[in-house]
Amino acid sequence: MAGLRCAAVLLEKGARVTIFEARDRIGGRICQSDEIGREVDLGAQWIHTLENNPLLEIAIDEDVALHRWGTDVQVYDSSRNLIDNGRATYISQLRRAIIRDAIEYSKKYKDRIPTSTSLLDFFVERAAQEQFPDNEQDRKLLLEMAELWGGFIGGDVSKQSLRHMWMEQCAAGEDLFVSSSYREIVDNVALTARRYRAIRLGMKVTGIKSRDRRTPGQKGGVLVTVEDGRSFPFDEVVVTAPLGWLKHHQDVFSPPLEAPLEKAIMGIGYGNLEKPPLEAYDLSCLPVQYASPTLLFFTWGPSAIQLTTAVRSLIPSKRFEYLKTYFEPYYSLLPHYSSGHVDCEPQVILSTDWAGDDLAGNGSYTNFLTGVDNASRDVDTLRYGCPERGIWFAGEHTAPSLHMGTATGAYIAGEDVAKRIIELYGMERCRL
Ligand SMILES: Cc1cc2nc3c(=O)[nH]c(=O)nc-3n(C[C@H](O)[C@H](O)[C@H](O)COP(=O)(O)OP(=O)(O)OC[C@H]3O[C@@H](n4cnc5c(N)ncnc54)[C@H](O)[C@@H]3O)c2cc1C
Repeated sequence: MAGLRCAAVLLEKGARVTIFEARDRIGGRICQSDEIGREVDLGAQWIHTLENNPLLEIAIDEDVALHRWGTDVQVYDSSRNLIDNGRATYISQLRRAIIRDAIEYSKKYKDRIPTSTSLLDFFVERAAQEQFPDNEQDRKLLLEMAELWGGFIGGDVSKQSLRHMWMEQCAAGEDLFVSSSYREIVDNVALTARRYRAIRLGMKVTGIKSRDRRTPGQKGGVLVTVEDGRSFPFDEVVVTAPLGWLKHHQDVFSPPLEAPLEKAIMGIGYGNLEKPPLEAYDLSCLPVQYASPTLLFFTWGPSAIQLTTAVRSLIPSKRFEYLKTYFEPYYSLLPHYSSGHVDCEPQVILSTDWAGDDLAGNGSYTNFLTGVDNASRDVDTLRYGCPERGIWFAGEHTAPSLHMGTATGAYIAGEDVAKRIIELYGMERCRL
């Protein structure tokens, strides 16, 4: 997303641009599968934070089907008890309010909050001392629902730094679910790059050699090497590989990146989120108004890694059985579910494996972990990049905090870097 948007802005100003994409498709962590008989998103599926959101505008222009989640949700506690709807709604809203409070609190006291304090600590304090001091059941339910927030950051809430919650502002906004698919959004963003034939698929970058153009007598220029050994010279290179990929492949840079950049790449957290979509054969176990009987499960953090590792090398039939058994305690709670009834049995289960995908950085979601002192400085360092060597960075990890870690954030980050390059070359007034 960041690369496509960056290329589009530069191309529109007359720059010559080449996108080297290692995969045989565009979109990165936004991708779809039709393996279960209908197209489902395996990566991004929500538009987070509707305020000033360019992807929302694209979705509206492209007539993408969007869905707003109501309050009519069924919540079960960890002992599989259905929670009364009114109570579940109240606690769910309270959870959101506490997350908003945590963001405001961290904005106000960021330098005073110990690096070891987590978002969960904040919840425990609010739940125990303010909300439900005498009601153990509601306190427990609130804390269990707080854990679900892990799906948003791809990690454990007990590891989410309270000090850096203000950098997760995207959590406080309203979200829309893309109920058709993100494909049209990606295709729209890719229009310009495709029109200029700027995308080269199957080109995995393995080396980025640069020179410091501030050194007297030294000419700039960056040499990019791809897997088959070919090298290509460029004036500027925008690296939009995921943060997780950068963590594992800092050796592509020659000479090595300066220490603050290396430190920033290693210091910012990177989560894990997996989505095994599951198709039930018949609608009978789902309320009739749902046209697509597809269930989406989200797993994150260590359990996502454990699950993907467990099924990665299994043959499809064994993988299906494993996942069916693994998720049975959950889908069997669906209304109208009847155990052993053929119409309620899952027919196909897909399992994503972002954790095993090197080009996705073996995960997703930039996050901010406890123990880190100044993540904001790290993000600024990465955002600034290394322009003196012609190397820039863009992606969800360099997004503004309102859109950090999201597809929208990647789009904005790509656009921001393109604008800086345009300014560097004095191309502001150029227009094709
Ligand atoms: C399961 C899951 C669910 C998600 N849900 C949402 C959601 O609902 N809403 C949301 O906003 N976000 C969501 N996200 C996050 C969102 O997908 C990402 O924030 C966004 O796609 C990041 O875009 P990007 O351009 O920064 O990186 P990417 O999309 O990862 O793009 C990086 C590109 O670089 C390529 N690449 C990597 N290494 C090389 C190399 N060496 N040479 C050449 N090319 C290379 C990759 O193939 C890829 O195409 C989700 C992510 C996952 C995994």
